[in-house]
Amino acid sequence: MFKLVCGAGNEDAESVKRLVFVYAKAGCKFFDISARKEILNAAKEGAKNAGAANVRYCVSVGIKGDPHISKAFINEEKCTKCGKCVDICPNDAVKTPPFVYQEKCIGCSKCEKVCPENAVKMRDKDVDISQILPEMIKDGVSVIELHIMGHDAADLEKKWKIINDCNPKYASICIDRENFGNKECLDRIRKMISVRDPFTTIVQADGIPMSGGDDSFKTTLQAVAMAEIIQNANLPVLIMISGGTNSKTAALAKQCGINYWGIAIGSWARKIVKEYVNSDDFWTNTEKQDRAVEIAKKLITTSV
Ligand code: SF4
Ligand code: SF4
Repeated sequence: MFKLVCGAGNEDAESVKRLVFVYAKAGCKFFDISARKEILNAAKEGAKNAGAANVRYCVSVGIKGDPHISKAFINEEKCTKCGKCVDICPNDAVKTPPFVYQEKCIGCSKCEKVCPENAVKMRDKDVDISQILPEMIKDGVSVIELHIMGHDAADLEKKWKIINDCNPKYASICIDRENFGNKECLDRIRKMISVRDPFTTIVQADGIPMSGGDDSFKTTLQAVAMAEIIQNANLPVLIMISGGTNSKTAALAKQCGINYWGIAIGSWARKIVKEYVNSDDFWTNTEKQDRAVEIAKKLITTSV
């Protein structure tokens, strides 16, 4: 199972529509998008334009503190306009002079890390999911994913209950080890799945979130390592590998004996088609579309 991650924080409807179009044409049937009605509609339109049927959508939300729901803000008083944040942003969300185009920001915090003046701060963009998610289920969403890398246990409990009350076909837990050790990760998962039927929960084992910037084995190492930790715990869950995934992930996971259910690819999958997807004449230039689809197909083929 290959899942294209459009970006939990990616609220740029046009880019989601194009990405879904390309990857649906290439054979992808599973898309991870931000939990917003206009984004779901854009994704559906992309799939429809691609002529794809039986497409499954996963909508992503997060608890307070999780990077997937955070956005970058620039303090103009501190900023010296060096441009480093503009160059490093993987989603073209920072524009000169600079300012952050919030809808495109996926919360990767690369700009914050590169800023020499400490002028960038990441802030949560929390939304009331109790209204949004039931509507998403009505609109055909079958998977709801919760990104849980924050320290607010009450927020986690509240949001997990809302998700389970929506009764999605699958609930997904996206977890990495940046803030917690293995034990706390597994304790969290055990507690969360105790209220669900066996194998109706996907654990998205995130190596290093949003780190798939290149196609090396090294980049995907932590993603496979995290999947192995989940596998060794023998939990009644489906394992989805993510966070640093690329065309090498499946090969490494197989070599390491990981019985994964799927591979979710975001940063790398978006990067390899970016040149085409961002072009002004994308919808009229079928040659560009075909080239993007070919590239996407190759990635999907290596990820099963
Ligand atoms: S990296 Fe920092 S100082 Fe440089 S342009 Fe961006 S916000 Fe301003
Ligand atoms: S570098 Fe990452 S956090 Fe910063 S603006 Fe771009 S997407 Fe957002």
